[in-house]
Amino acid sequence: QKFVYDFTEGNKELKDLLGGKGANLAEMTNLGLPVPPGFTITTEACQVYLASGHEPAALRDEVSAHLDALETRMGKKLGQADDPLLVSVRSGAKFSMPGMMDTVLNIGLSDESVAGLAAQAGDERFAWDSYRRLIQMFGKTVLGVEGDLFEEALEETKRAKGVTTDIDLDAGDLRRLVEEFKGIVSKETGRDFPQEPREQMDLAIRAVFDSWNTDRAKLYRRQERIPGDLGTAVNVCSMVFGNLGPDSGTGVAFTRDPASGHQGVYGDYLQNAQGEDVVAGIRNTVPLADLERIDKSSYDQLMQIMETLETHYKDLCDIEFTIERGQLWMLQTRVGKRTAGAAFRIATQLVDQGLIDEAEALQRVTGAQLAQLMFPRFDEQAKADLLGRGIAASPGAAVGKAVFDSYTAVKWSRSGEKVILIRRETNPDDLNGMIAAEGILTSRGGKTSHAAVVARGMGKTCVCGAEELEVDTKRRRMTAPGGIVVEEGDIVSIDGSTGKVYLGEVPVVPSPVVEYFEGRMHAGADDADELVQAVHRMMAYADRTRRLRVRANADNAEDASRARRFGAQGIGLCRTEHMFLGERREMVERLILADTDEEREGALQALLPLQKADFVELFEAMDGLPVTVRLLDPPLHEFLPDITELSVRVALAEAREDANENDLRLLQAVHKLHEQNPMLGLRGVRLGLVIPGLFAMQVRAIAEAAAARKNAKGDPRAEIMIPLVGTVQELEIVREEAERVIAEVEAATGTDLRLTLGTMIELPRAALTAGQIAEAAEFFSFGTNDLTQTVWGFSRDDVEASFFTAYLEKGIFGVSPFETIDRDGVGKLVREAAQAGRATRPDLKLGVCGEHGGDPESVHFFHEVGLDYVSCSPFRIPVARLEAGRAAA
Ligand code: ADP
Ligand code: MG
Ligand code: MG
Repeated sequence: QKFVYDFTEGNKELKDLLGGKGANLAEMTNLGLPVPPGFTITTEACQVYLASGHEPAALRDEVSAHLDALETRMGKKLGQADDPLLVSVRSGAKFSMPGMMDTVLNIGLSDESVAGLAAQAGDERFAWDSYRRLIQMFGKTVLGVEGDLFEEALEETKRAKGVTTDIDLDAGDLRRLVEEFKGIVSKETGRDFPQEPREQMDLAIRAVFDSWNTDRAKLYRRQERIPGDLGTAVNVCSMVFGNLGPDSGTGVAFTRDPASGHQGVYGDYLQNAQGEDVVAGIRNTVPLADLERIDKSSYDQLMQIMETLETHYKDLCDIEFTIERGQLWMLQTRVGKRTAGAAFRIATQLVDQGLIDEAEALQRVTGAQLAQLMFPRFDEQAKADLLGRGIAASPGAAVGKAVFDSYTAVKWSRSGEKVILIRRETNPDDLNGMIAAEGILTSRGGKTSHAAVVARGMGKTCVCGAEELEVDTKRRRMTAPGGIVVEEGDIVSIDGSTGKVYLGEVPVVPSPVVEYFEGRMHAGADDADELVQAVHRMMAYADRTRRLRVRANADNAEDASRARRFGAQGIGLCRTEHMFLGERREMVERLILADTDEEREGALQALLPLQKADFVELFEAMDGLPVTVRLLDPPLHEFLPDITELSVRVALAEAREDANENDLRLLQAVHKLHEQNPMLGLRGVRLGLVIPGLFAMQVRAIAEAAAARKNAKGDPRAEIMIPLVGTVQELEIVREEAERVIAEVEAATGTDLRLTLGTMIELPRAALTAGQIAEAAEFFSFGTNDLTQTVWGFSRDDVEASFFTAYLEKGIFGVSPFETIDRDGVGKLVREAAQAGRATRPDLKLGVCGEHGGDPESVHFFHEVGLDYVSCSPFRIPVARLEAGRAAA
């Protein structure tokens, strides 16, 4: 097994082994781009280390061999006294984890070699600046010294000298600072800062391995669902120096705007700086475009390289680079994170440029991104008090109470408050607070700052670099121009699409993407237009590609019409229980209380025309498309008054001696129907079997409505669905009765209704005996909500509040099985029931109507197991269409 790869040996496909950074450094090296030479230690070495507690035996020799080769190539030895080779030791996992892992620069410097570096560069200041950076980074990340101790010493040195930035410190100041830093290290760790270069390197490599398991790395992985056992690679890269004076510097760039997708020059540059300085916001960066003026030839070369990378990766890339005395070096690239809107635009732009095809374009966007684009935004017409403006870093409209630290953000959000986390800048320690917040606002840092990058990754609203807002985290307040003060707890609204920050709550309006789906979007703002165009095209690709049909869960004409506008190809679930509520509740009470057949008949007869009218409307709204109507499902007590309330009412009335007859009967009935476990009680098909005439009345209403539509020259396509069947016998009984009723209606109305009858598969027994059930069912609709409840033995109404959080924290679930289908358990039943059903009845129609029907990940599963359609709530239809397309692409 080989544990070390030279940059010339890898390529971009080897992310599992070399991590993203290592694989892409290798790719750039092999593209002939200027990358400082180096090598990568594999994730496999890290896995061995994490599992066993020590590095694999062969690693040391392999590293030595690669270091030798590097030294030969560079013509100097690591830490060589008169001319030291310096390296950076950089983490890099398969998935980019911004700010999660630590990088140490300038390894190889010591009390001795700092002089050599100064002599070689002809720059004392530079050498001491590099050395103090090494001790600072090494002390913090490798030796575990509190980083603030170094920061404070640095601040104090600046303060004593009366200057504000690090470049104002001269060689003497930095040399004294080095002494001070070394003192801090000795005091805090009980050992001296290691002077031996190879020891520095080995310790740093181990520290990178260890950083895989820091709390914040674990938290980020849980958030992003990154497996915990991948480990990280380690890159050892020869140093180039951006801190060698004004003709040097360091920067970050995007090949396109990660917020809008527009091509252009996007990025930040900082002269005379090293490494993290750009993103850490220690000094103000300049826009990348200014580099053209500062160093034209490096700028031109960078533009060229950006073009090469875009064409090569066929995607937006982000880049980290350094200029050392006019020479450009590439230090990192990767396919860059982007906002949801940019993802859609970039995908279509790349198709237009001929770089990718439609199928590939579908892989470049996700249903989650589309869902994000459907969020409401701030109403531009509304009156709002503008506090200030920052950089639009991650879109969305977020409103919440101002909080100035992560701890409060977490605490308040736990108690149900919406909060906006406000910081001067964020760092990885703020991650908990960022997750808890509705949105993030910072007063410093650009589009590539920690806050911006992490928020975009999380799909969270972020405004960064709002410099006119003065954030005072100690006193928990923010001051806007004009002296307006926002205290902790005051409500603010932030707009991540425009960068505007408002005092108070700004009302929101629907997004242009929703307006488009609603058919209300007409040529408006250019920007919205572009986005809508991109969404429109991507939806067309998805619709052309997908095999799954998408239906809606809807039970009234209004929802049905919206669903149709959103692209629904029918209704997969019309619940009939709402038709029993409101003023009809009284008739239902009569039905439940009926002592005699006549009473019951009377109640049903009263309900019939009302139900029929509902269905007529629905069939009209979905004319020509299938409508699956589910017969009554919930336990009857849901239609009766609450047992406690009613008991109290009756007791009080009895005390006053004016108890009313009806209430007494009701109370009796409530007692009779009361169940310990109503979800496993008298509901679904059991109701139909126990309450004479109930299902027959519903079937009649459906059939008469269909006949009415037929006679009005409509095209009704009703499907009657029986819920909660556990055995084919139940279904057969209901089926016989239904067929008789339908035949009567057909005869009476002179129509041929072609109604189909099917069942839900939502009990394990139904799934296990699907082959038999299919004999009496023309279709199955998997009710994956109940199926998940009954397969796991979880009560959906209770678990989320009781133990799910603990389960998620312990990693038992990555995500709730009510949100994303549990492939191994519930999914297995679905797969096998589908096969068994089709074995009995090859033309059996198969669909799903649980919440999972609109969940991206689950849609892929339903595609794989060969269902015909998914059904979901109207708002999720576009997401389901897109994901069904992606699944088939
Ligand atoms: P991160 O994963 O946090 O981006 P990196 O390993 O990319 O960490 O290092 C952070 C920054 O340090 C880089 O963007 C670059 O500016 C600087 N850096 C890393 N290695 C070198 C090197 N060999 N020479 C000069 N600068 C470097
Ligand atoms: Mg980097
Ligand atoms: Mg159900």
